[in-house]
Amino acid sequence: MKVLVVGAGVVGVTTAYFLSRQGFEVVVVDRGQEPASETSFANGGQISVSHAEPWANPKALQRAARWLLRADAPLRVRLRADPRQWAWLAGFARECTNERTQSNIGELVRLGTYSRKVLQLLRSDTGISYDEQLRGILHFYTDAREFDAAHEPARLMREFGCERSIVSVDEAVAIEPALRPARALLVGATFTPADESGDAHAFTVQLARLCRASGVEFRMGRQVTALHASGGRIDHLETIAPDGGYETMRAQRYVLAAGSFSPLLAAPVGIRLAVYPAKGYSVTMPVRDAARAYQVSLTDDERKLVFSRLGDRLRIAGTAELAGYGRALDLNRCRAILRRIEQLMPGAGDTTAATFWSGLRPSTPSNLPYVGGTQLPNLFLNTGHGTLGWTLACGSAKALADLIAGRQPDVDYAFCGPAPVSGKSNVVPETISS
Ligand SMILES: Cc1cc2nc3c(=O)[nH]c(=O)nc-3n(C[C@H](O)[C@H](O)[C@H](O)COP(=O)(O)OP(=O)(O)OC[C@H]3O[C@@H](n4cnc5c(N)ncnc54)[C@H](O)[C@@H]3O)c2cc1C
Repeated sequence: MKVLVVGAGVVGVTTAYFLSRQGFEVVVVDRGQEPASETSFANGGQISVSHAEPWANPKALQRAARWLLRADAPLRVRLRADPRQWAWLAGFARECTNERTQSNIGELVRLGTYSRKVLQLLRSDTGISYDEQLRGILHFYTDAREFDAAHEPARLMREFGCERSIVSVDEAVAIEPALRPARALLVGATFTPADESGDAHAFTVQLARLCRASGVEFRMGRQVTALHASGGRIDHLETIAPDGGYETMRAQRYVLAAGSFSPLLAAPVGIRLAVYPAKGYSVTMPVRDAARAYQVSLTDDERKLVFSRLGDRLRIAGTAELAGYGRALDLNRCRAILRRIEQLMPGAGDTTAATFWSGLRPSTPSNLPYVGGTQLPNLFLNTGHGTLGWTLACGSAKALADLIAGRQPDVDYAFCGPAPVSGKSNVVPETISS
């Protein structure tokens, strides 16, 4: 059976890999010339089950009000004349209750833990390497109120199976000695030893190579302009090449893994997805002084920045802007990231050789991705992974391949789709189909 996957980011390529392992004939189509050329290109690098607290939580609105006054606020919303943005914000507000937050943390911890395990198995099966670091994630706090507020979500995560423990400032500095110059700023930290980090772009490019070697076809440089439905099913995709060459593509099954652009393709066939782009930035620079540079992946709670060591490079990423599909670099934001690393670990990186990047997180109000079926029986979704696409990619892909093969996935998650797939009732997060 042939499956067409739209999107060759980390989510689409992992989907292709697991579908191919299940024996499907797989074709991946993407407008980029290379896999992982959009949001999966230079993200924060964290495999962070411990990052399961969604943006939407009971404290979010209060925090957002505080950030309104800060030029370097980690989250910024630019209201646009775009009903999709308003609908997303209304959905976000609905997710800010205690009950929704707890439920969303549970879903994210379950899918994240499973995904990390699937990534580890994939690594040992294939021998793939991508500057991975298996040293855990240390989330540090410089604001006592925020540190206090972190205890409850950390406790919840432990209850759901993520070993995120509270550690003292001394313990934090012992775990990552590069934080010594910042010691006076720290008020506490949490540590999740099983979390990891690594270069999502290198991983995706290599996995795509392995997929090709096992028969997956990649049709790169092709923009999918429309999904065409007929008789209650997807009949074909319409695609166009940069030279204007038009081609229709057909398969028995279709997977939409087009990141922030998935809703634009899904809406004309009657599926409304609450996925909206949240622009973020990253800075990458060579290590200047290895003795001062971190090895353990870090999260700076105050600035909502994540730090990953990628071989001899430092990657720092973060900030979020809900401002539509533009990817223009705001150099003030990039320089603010550089100032922060210099404040915390002066001299660790070569700031004169820093490169800047921006990408669009495909964000849902709940932070839960859409993984599963739709009202059209041959159209499947693997999209909307927001802040956690690298963390959740392998698990989402393996579970979706199981669903397409008619098997029960071995993770308990709120899969979307018209029919229950497990004993637990099937949630269709924010999907409105007609
Ligand atoms: C600053 C930043 C930091 C981040 N840090 C982390 C982190 O530390 N850990 C983590 O887990 N996640 C992180 N993320 C999130 C993660 O990067 C994303 O969730 C993930 O890359 C999404 O992958 P994707 O495959 O869904 O989307 P993408 O990588 O964007 O892939 C979608 C693909 O679809 C293609 N496409 C779209 N529309 C069409 C069309 N019409 N026709 C043909 N092709 C099309 C695009 O070309 C693209 O290749 C971060 C994101 C940002 C922006």
